[in-house]
Amino acid sequence: MRTIIEPFRIKMTEALPLTTREARAARLAFAHNNVFLLAAEDVTIDLLTDSGTGAMSDRQWAALMLGDESYAGSRSWRNFERVVRDITGFKHIFPTHQGRAAERILAATRLKAKEIVPNNSHFDTTRANIEYVGAQAVDLLTREGRDLYSEQRFKGDIDLFALERLIETEGAQKIPFCMITVTNNSGGGQPVSMQNIRDAKQLLKKHGVPLILDACRFAENAYFIKRHEAGWSDKSLIEIARAMFSFADGATMSAKKDGLANIGGFFGCHDDQWAEDFRNLLILTEGFPTYGGLAGRDLEAIAVGLMEALDEDYQRYRHATVDYLARRLMERGVPLVRPPGGHAVFIDAAAFCSHLSPRDYPGIGLVNALYLEGGVRAVELGSVMFGKARPGGDEEPAAHELVRLALPRRVYTQSHFDYVIEVIDAVWRTRDRIRPHHIVQQAPFLRHFTARFEAA
Ligand SMILES: *Cc1c(COP(=O)(O)O)cnc(C)c1O
Repeated sequence: MRTIIEPFRIKMTEALPLTTREARAARLAFAHNNVFLLAAEDVTIDLLTDSGTGAMSDRQWAALMLGDESYAGSRSWRNFERVVRDITGFKHIFPTHQGRAAERILAATRLKAKEIVPNNSHFDTTRANIEYVGAQAVDLLTREGRDLYSEQRFKGDIDLFALERLIETEGAQKIPFCMITVTNNSGGGQPVSMQNIRDAKQLLKKHGVPLILDACRFAENAYFIKRHEAGWSDKSLIEIARAMFSFADGATMSAKKDGLANIGGFFGCHDDQWAEDFRNLLILTEGFPTYGGLAGRDLEAIAVGLMEALDEDYQRYRHATVDYLARRLMERGVPLVRPPGGHAVFIDAAAFCSHLSPRDYPGIGLVNALYLEGGVRAVELGSVMFGKARPGGDEEPAAHELVRLALPRRVYTQSHFDYVIEVIDAVWRTRDRIRPHHIVQQAPFLRHFTARFEAA
């Protein structure tokens, strides 16, 4: 059959709010024109993030009931550990309450001020945790990866030439570990090839630098490798995932992505000293090493979710959904980052709003127009999120003005996406009416969450 259907049917429903344009205009004004400040009940289709927003399966809900809440040595922990070890092969595994907790403990135990951590692109919490201990987070994306419209397949690959140059100029002793993020969230959800992970490992090994995978979307990445990288088409997703992890000395993970859970994460590694240091701080800030800030039932749900994420029918449908949305928008001429990534579609807001300049915050104008048109919530990844203040009050714009439509896992059906396409199409046809925005109030850090805007 040519039609790729959702490989599940729906056993429980959650009503969607259907609102009028007048009501949305009032809600947006009340939220100071910042969709982060909207009440979720006022959003019809919420594409703000794919993090922790997925729907659990009946098997996950059943597993919740089997949660063993013993403080130490719980059965749920052993189920979790068995699954994570089966996929990753790590000797030491630690649950954490989410991905950034693993990052924070890793940074606190392994990094000193002035040291350097390269990555294809650091996710914002990873960067913040590295910078918090005074170390430096360096992005080494290839030239194709930085080109929004390049059709190359593995645009998440780390630039190996730049990595080698960095090691040679700074010295390997200044680089306690290197990271690779699969898929590359900050870079459009683009995949990393097995070849690139293997070559990076070989280069790093020569210099004695460990490799840590930021593995949040390891299963989506595995599917890209199966589909597009020579030599992997007849391997199962778990075999591909195991091969990816075989090149890593450790991994941080947010179970809110490919754990198909609403909360959770883990850290895994082989080295005994790394594990001991991690364990000591984990007990101090997260909890005993067999629960790490999670309930036993969460550990059960994650253990089931990790395996469901490696189900090929699920990944085929997931990738087909992103493709469906992207293809129909491209047919209408909407400028998108190419090719579509694993978890989101990114609109080039600068091209969409060609009548606006970066200092007009075109991403905010577009996000607000999508909300007003149909109650669709997206997020700006442009000069509000990444712009830098310059001395004198002027602002350095971000490299790109993007708007991300992130797809929660197993939540919306094809007709929901047809609706989203109709909303975007309507805004696209009237794009000249998207107005410039300016900031009237902002916080010194992570201002996008709370800033207040006015439309000119
Ligand atoms: C979400 C995410 C994180 C952080 O995980 P949380 O569970 O949100 O703390 C780290 N890296 C990447 C690539 C992510 O997408």
